[in-house]
Amino acid sequence: MAGEPQADCLFCKIVAGEVPATVVRETETTVAFRDINPQAPTHVLVIPKAHYPDAATLAAEAPQLAADVLKEAGEVAAGEKAEAYRLVFNTGSAAGQTVFHAHAHVLAGRGLQWPPG
Ligand code: IMP
Repeated sequence: MAGEPQADCLFCKIVAGEVPATVVRETETTVAFRDINPQAPTHVLVIPKAHYPDAATLAAEAPQLAADVLKEAGEVAAGEKAEAYRLVFNTGSAAGQTVFHAHAHVLAGRGLQWPPG
């Protein structure tokens, strides 16, 4: 069923507290935690607690929850005192997605080039 926890999903395990994470913010519907392999001084992942495989599926099936994730990304950036930041939703393995539980990368604290690699 849409949104149900998946036994083999790393981020569902973080939501359940079965895998440790450095949590920076949590709401009723989302968790934000530091990326284990940071690509910038601030690199935080914001996830919905419910399981959706990617951002587009999340937005299509649970639009309010997608909005919650975006709002929290902004709150993370504000909490990190980021004057500018980048939100990334890698979607599909060819685009670099490795964890198939929707997540926003919040990147800040260094110059960010455009276009990205
Ligand atoms: P993706 O490649 O866009 O799917 O992003 C997945 C991110 O999860 C990568 O940046 C990983 O470094 C990060 N990651 C993987 N395992 C963990 C973990 O246990 N804690 C925090 N971040 C993780």
